[in-house]
Amino acid sequence: MPAALLCFEPNCRTEYSTSAVLYNCPKCGGLLEAVIDYDKEDAKLWKDRWRQRRLTNDPLDVSGVWRYREMLDLFGGGFENVVTLREGCTPLLSGPRAAAYAGLDGIVFKHQGFNPTGSFKDNGMTCGVAQAVKLGMKRVACVSTGNTSASMAAYSSAAGLDPIIFIPNGNISFGKLSQALDYGARTFQVDANFDEILALVRVLAERMGIYLLNSINPFRIEGQKSIVIEMLDQRDWKVPDWIVLPGGNLGNTSAFGKGLRELLALGLIDKLPRLAVVQAEGSAPFYDYVRQTDFSAFPTVKKPETLATAIKIGDPVSYPKALFEVLTTGGVVERVTEQEIADAKAVIGACGIGSEPASAATLAGLKKLVAAGTVRADADVVAVLTGNVLKDPDYIYKYHTGELDDPKGARLTSRFANRPVVVPNDPEQIAALLGGKN
Ligand SMILES: *Cc1c(COP(=O)(O)O)cnc(C)c1O
Ligand SMILES: [Zn+2]
Repeated sequence: MPAALLCFEPNCRTEYSTSAVLYNCPKCGGLLEAVIDYDKEDAKLWKDRWRQRRLTNDPLDVSGVWRYREMLDLFGGGFENVVTLREGCTPLLSGPRAAAYAGLDGIVFKHQGFNPTGSFKDNGMTCGVAQAVKLGMKRVACVSTGNTSASMAAYSSAAGLDPIIFIPNGNISFGKLSQALDYGARTFQVDANFDEILALVRVLAERMGIYLLNSINPFRIEGQKSIVIEMLDQRDWKVPDWIVLPGGNLGNTSAFGKGLRELLALGLIDKLPRLAVVQAEGSAPFYDYVRQTDFSAFPTVKKPETLATAIKIGDPVSYPKALFEVLTTGGVVERVTEQEIADAKAVIGACGIGSEPASAATLAGLKKLVAAGTVRADADVVAVLTGNVLKDPDYIYKYHTGELDDPKGARLTSRFANRPVVVPNDPEQIAALLGGKN
């Protein structure tokens, strides 16, 4: 069998077919991971093959996910189920000001906000939707008010599927929800909390044959491996010292670690970079978890709070995988305040780059890690900006006009405020305001 689903629990490891509709291990409830039976000899040819694909106009080659399809050979022969919106192909951008702010000699941002729906969720969703098509599913669903629903709606509609989104009533992020509406997803607001809705959707999924594309979906995790594969391809396979990313449900942390381990095992890289995962202080259960000595009970946060809504998750589904990946890479987990996120975000903006708040946790975390001596000033660092600047304009306007309050209602300090200025229709006065030569 070329690919299989394997239970992630070390003392279970039961194997299932990739054509089974499963989200958890039926035996023990553990997370599932997709495993591919790689041809190590063939892998010697992949770097050249992947480069050659950049010269073609074949949609699968143009995609920054499917260009690397040897590492996504999950569907049992061929990729005819794949629907691509030309996801991936996201740039590496250097930010000298951001580096100085963090106390680093240099920093490079891998900006996943350049994706078709504006976040890295597209890298995974193209793969999750391909599996839905392969399984013959007609309806797909997720519970999310955020980037997952925007991405799920776009890819499912493009594939001719019927996307259904469930959201908790009164807990809506308009930028992202409006994308989902525009991409044609049927959207249900339910008067219940996130966990209750998830339970409801699981019942509906089973009864009506709806395929779930939540974070737990192992095919989405596979697609997200392409972020680190593409990053290393763009760096001519030079492995950085650190890869820094924000942590919410921890799917991306799991995907990065898995992708890196596979690249190492295939001989495509010569060492592992260290992963640094950054959480928001009001929503940092993984930070607390890695500080335990025995990793027994996961310290779920009942009421997570942060303005960085993409990482406002108190009970991250992928924590067992993420713990394994952080330990394997000699990684660290940091946490940052609302103030630190807001200032770091403005610094990333002032580099001409910009990101949504959750992404800026990376720079805020790096500043702390450099100050603590964990990351050296001369380290080779790639920080992953997960979402586009336009995802959350309300936050930006409030920050720059000095009106941004943290979730408890305390006013944040807008250290890098850039206020719009009301001026009279008069060149003399405007010239005076601008200063310099008249
Ligand atoms: C989903 C998301 C995250 C969190 O990623 P996880 O895989 O859930 O840890 C961070 N930033 C943005 C912009 C996201 O959309
Ligand atoms: Zn199991």
